[in-house]
Amino acid sequence: MLPLVPLQQLRSALAEQKRVQVLVQREDLVHRTRSGNKLYKLCFNIQYAKQHGMQTLVSFGGGYSNHLHALALAGQEEGMNTVGIIRGDYRANLTATLRDCQAAGMQVRFVDRQQWALRNTSEYCLSLHADFSNAYIIPEGGDNALGFRGTRLLGQQIGRQLQGLPPSGCTHVLVACGTGTTMAGIVAEMPAGVAVLGVSPLKGDDKLTAAISAKLVQASIEPQCSWKIDRRFCLEGYGRLPNELERFIRFFERKFMIPLDPVYTAKVMFALFTMLEADEFQPGDRVIVIHTGGLQGKRGYPKLMSPLHSSARLKSINIGAF
Ligand SMILES: *Cc1c(COP(=O)(O)O)cnc(C)c1O
Repeated sequence: MLPLVPLQQLRSALAEQKRVQVLVQREDLVHRTRSGNKLYKLCFNIQYAKQHGMQTLVSFGGGYSNHLHALALAGQEEGMNTVGIIRGDYRANLTATLRDCQAAGMQVRFVDRQQWALRNTSEYCLSLHADFSNAYIIPEGGDNALGFRGTRLLGQQIGRQLQGLPPSGCTHVLVACGTGTTMAGIVAEMPAGVAVLGVSPLKGDDKLTAAISAKLVQASIEPQCSWKIDRRFCLEGYGRLPNELERFIRFFERKFMIPLDPVYTAKVMFALFTMLEADEFQPGDRVIVIHTGGLQGKRGYPKLMSPLHSSARLKSINIGAF
């Protein structure tokens, strides 16, 4: 059984004023190297590969991928080979993420747009099997049936966390989405009466609702809880750091001493505070926010790596009632 992570109460004046209890499930602390939801998405995949005698784990991602980072370090610890197929050519400018991956023994292969577009085709898969013997191929982001099975464990952790905390149960779970696998795992496990809200960091059409529905249908799961994707908090789109978000991250980290990554967890916390202000929760509600980790990816944003609490910068920030 996986260890329980801290469930940390956010002591915020705004939450108190609205009489809403906010608890942060610190999955960023679940493992020394495999941070957050990626540990859950990888665990059954690695187990499967091992049981079937496959020694090489192959997967896909960008230059700052939390998924590849977790995979490289997991492979190293489990004594398996890892291969990362990378979107774009970083040879002249290796990112901190890719440097870690290589230091952990991951073989990286840079591919251009055209090749990247082929990554889910069977021809490309066959060519990977030809290049790497005994390979087990994991889709980008760990988004497969075994990844989903792992994220259901994360969903079960929420129930385990709340058992000792009367009144047991919660009214809302907030989680950041990429592929939606993690959200699907939570939705599968939450009882009736809970609303699961997925915060999408992606601009454009909503593909997440259909993707999550498909995962649930495929696993023959009829959710008990209610769930929906909230697209109001994409803040200029995936990976972008508008001033408003940067200001929010500085405020949040200083006030609560919880680090955030700008791609996922900052947006989920931004959603939380915006919804609190807009009275979208009822007095007496208990909201669980999942901190899905991803902090290594923050190194792609040098200006967020300066000391968290640099007072000169903070003086210029007016964060209002938060
Ligand atoms: C990958 C990732 C997500 C998205 O998870 P999905 O299961 O793909 O929806 C959310 N938060 C963090 C920090 C991540 O690294």
